[in-house]
Amino acid sequence: MQQDIVTGRSKIDNTFIMHVVYPSYNKWDTLQPLFKKHGYAMIMPSTKVMYIDGQAIEDLSKDQFYAIQAHEIAHHILKHKGHYTADQEREADVAGIAILQHLQYNLASKALEDRAIQSYGRTNLSLKPQQLALLKAYTSSI
Ligand SMILES: [Zn+2]
Repeated sequence: MQQDIVTGRSKIDNTFIMHVVYPSYNKWDTLQPLFKKHGYAMIMPSTKVMYIDGQAIEDLSKDQFYAIQAHEIAHHILKHKGHYTADQEREADVAGIAILQHLQYNLASKALEDRAIQSYGRTNLSLKPQQLALLKAYTSSI
């Protein structure tokens, strides 16, 4: 039988909690529209708790799964809250790539970079100085 929720910690940063949820989960009806809007995963604002669509990630590789986690962690590190703008989504990809590179998750980093290049173009993958400072403070702590 399929489980309704599987909870664990992110291997990228074990201070982040991951809830992988399935349609039999009792809060699925609340979460599903959010997955439709945000994609495979989302992190609750100002927390280190992320929800991941268990069905959507079934066919992903381990590295693609790490890429998703890094993107969500990056939203937290960059202090994004609530409804993300297109710019914030791009920034979470860019910071996620840097986090994965820092930890030498090379295939995952490449997977996220490929996605970001496809979505935003190779020349648009930069961060503002303030964001670079947040990112640097974070990567030096992990
Ligand atoms: Zn995002």
